[in-house]
Amino acid sequence: MSGPNNDYDPVEVTPLHPDEVDRMKREALDAIAAAGDLPALKQVRLDHAGDRSPLGLANREIGALPPQARKEAGIRVGGARREVKEALERRTEELEAEQEARILTEEAVDVTLPTDREPRGARHPLTTIQERIAEIFVAMGWEVAEGPEVEAQWMNFDALNMGPDHPARTMQDTFWLEPSGSGLVLRTHTSPVQARTMLERTPPIYVVCPGRTFRTDELDATHSPVFSQVEGLAIDKGLSMAHLKGTLDHFAAGIFGEGVVTRFRPSYFPFTEPSAEVDVLCFVCRGESPAVESCRTCKGEGWIEWGGCGVVNPRVLVACGVDPDEWSGFAFGMGLERTLMFRNDIADMRDIFEGDVRFTLPFGLEV
Ligand SMILES: [Zn+2]
Repeated sequence: MSGPNNDYDPVEVTPLHPDEVDRMKREALDAIAAAGDLPALKQVRLDHAGDRSPLGLANREIGALPPQARKEAGIRVGGARREVKEALERRTEELEAEQEARILTEEAVDVTLPTDREPRGARHPLTTIQERIAEIFVAMGWEVAEGPEVEAQWMNFDALNMGPDHPARTMQDTFWLEPSGSGLVLRTHTSPVQARTMLERTPPIYVVCPGRTFRTDELDATHSPVFSQVEGLAIDKGLSMAHLKGTLDHFAAGIFGEGVVTRFRPSYFPFTEPSAEVDVLCFVCRGESPAVESCRTCKGEGWIEWGGCGVVNPRVLVACGVDPDEWSGFAFGMGLERTLMFRNDIADMRDIFEGDVRFTLPFGLEV
């Protein structure tokens, strides 16, 4: 029995009935409280706060109401939606905090646990080549001798027939130690180990002496103020240049490969007489045509400069207490960085000193 022009009663529109709005709100709030994680809450947001949720649809109904009815319905539905929205925000914050706490616990790294991923270290190629050289000589019955890096100038120069006027004694080449006049230097070569050995032992002597040496050179691609040498000394009865040549040929074959020999070029050193520069046959092209013409290792020479050698000067023997009428001997010395550079095709000497594992790794993990 409804009459015409009755006021539109929003209570009569089911979705806008106060009980119904209240029910929709409670369902939404219950679902929000029950959401256990952020993905679940996202679904709850779609189901209860989206445009197609019951409250969203109810909100759309308001627009269809006559103006006088809109206000009350708007307050009711708007209040419910605001409560749901606020509940969603609070629950989001709670769940985010829970997730963060869980990540901190579950993904925490126990730095005290043992690991098998620690990279293995290896010795420096300069060390391993020194040991390889020592092995070659020890196999021939030689001994390895060492001496101090801070050396008496008498051992470094005088004993080796380098008088006070020798150019190597000037300040340009030598690190002198303070106080001035102390007579101490950083050894400029490993040769003082020869002098020490002759003074300490009685012949026959067969020693090889690897070690660090020091000169006042600038550090560049081919020079360094600190470098390494290997020195050899043999003192026995009747030793000659022929024994020296045979020893160095065996040494060269051990380091560069079977069949690699040496050649001598006349030279001068104060501590040997006669003296020679040692060249080693290019182990890449073996000096054979046509490979030698384009060989980068020997630059087309077929031979590579390697070191110096000679028969021990009798004056050195006398200075070190060895009778030159009874004993004779030979000595040789090579730069280890230089040997490593041409043997392993290293263009810049600084790479050897800088301690970068990218340089040492290609040599292998030799321990
Ligand atoms: Zn070559």
